[in-house]
Amino acid sequence: MALIVQKYGGSSVADADSIKRVAKRIVDTRRAGHDVVVAVSAMGDTTDELLDLAHEVAPIPAPRELDMLLSSGERISMALLAMTIHSMGFEARSFTGSQAGMMTDSHHGKARIVDVTPVRVREALDEGAIVIVAGFQGINRDTLDITTLGRGGSDTTAVALAAALNADVCEIYSDVDGIFTADPRVIPQARKLDHVSSEEMLELAANGAKVLYIRAVEYARRHGVLIHARSTFSTAEGTYVLGEGMKNPRESEGAAMEEPIVAGVATDLSQAKITVSGVPDVPGKAAEIFTVVAKSGANVDMIVQNVSAASTGRTDISFTLPKADAASALKALAAERGGIGFDSLQHDDQIGKLSVVGAGMRTHSGVSAILFEALSTAGINIEMISTSEIRISVVLRADELADAARAVHTAYGLDSEIEAVVHAGTGR
Ligand code: ASP
Ligand code: MG
Repeated sequence: MALIVQKYGGSSVADADSIKRVAKRIVDTRRAGHDVVVAVSAMGDTTDELLDLAHEVAPIPAPRELDMLLSSGERISMALLAMTIHSMGFEARSFTGSQAGMMTDSHHGKARIVDVTPVRVREALDEGAIVIVAGFQGINRDTLDITTLGRGGSDTTAVALAAALNADVCEIYSDVDGIFTADPRVIPQARKLDHVSSEEMLELAANGAKVLYIRAVEYARRHGVLIHARSTFSTAEGTYVLGEGMKNPRESEGAAMEEPIVAGVATDLSQAKITVSGVPDVPGKAAEIFTVVAKSGANVDMIVQNVSAASTGRTDISFTLPKADAASALKALAAERGGIGFDSLQHDDQIGKLSVVGAGMRTHSGVSAILFEALSTAGINIEMISTSEIRISVVLRADELADAARAVHTAYGLDSEIEAVVHAGTGR
């Protein structure tokens, strides 16, 4: 008998029929002799609808009240799910985040879990009940106000419960079959991964892959939680996300598989590029520019500085940042133009970022050559390049991103013969 934590995303509990399907799956797990704790998201687009409603009554909703409102979405789904399970003849008990002991810091809308004390969850399990916990929410340890964990936060709820309860596995259910070598909507030949290391998963998620949330993967990595990302719509096994030193549960079934050098290709259309032209090439200018950008609240990703023209002693500095941060960064820089002494600013929101991720890069040479060769053959121009130990990223034109991703996916030998199944298609 195992203790299994399951998380169901909004698209898995979008209506009554979906809730019944999920309830059946939970009951099946229970029937197989396991203890089950479920973290559930709000039904369908409930969270978006509540957000819209809030903005209709207040331009800037009070953060405390917004969390109170948004947390109600998960209370609806948890109670409906528990009722459904009851009507199937099984004992089920739902708990809000605070009842389940999800203690957070004070950051409304983006709270971090600081402690989990699942006393009531344990009690309910000991009494033989299936436990349903509202995802995405907790309680501020100091003020006892309700907090939410940020969009997609139910993944983190599930992982944190799994850690606190010392569960055998945390199954994250969505409408895709697992983690793929690329977004199947961009590359139909994307292949489902049997497993992926948590460090690769973090790089993929940070660079555009949307199946799992970064905070949840980080939490799992820190606390040694085994994640199994799989589909609500099929019983096929999905993808295991393995932390350091963790064994692939499937490996006992056969010989250890050879690790591929590249785990996957991620694409990201959410970034913009700002170029600061004619920057005096003297010490301190980069510091001035990025201090201004940081103060505007922008989160800078890639940075490139050109070689300065000998005749002018000036250089260009380009950087990428989330599209949503670009306007305030531009405004802040423009205000400092005289002080910093640059000539002009350019804003480009038609860029795409392609990243290749694989732990094998540490030990294999020639990984970047394959990327550049594939892009060159496809006639695609590279505008920026950045690397980490296990990732290479390039910035290209947005309208060439999909073609580039397909060419690169093929070049690394990642293509599968069968087309990936995309069910409802949101990945949540
Ligand atoms: N309902 C929340 C959201 O839509 C949390 C989640 O789905 O994980 O972001
Ligand atoms: Mg949702």
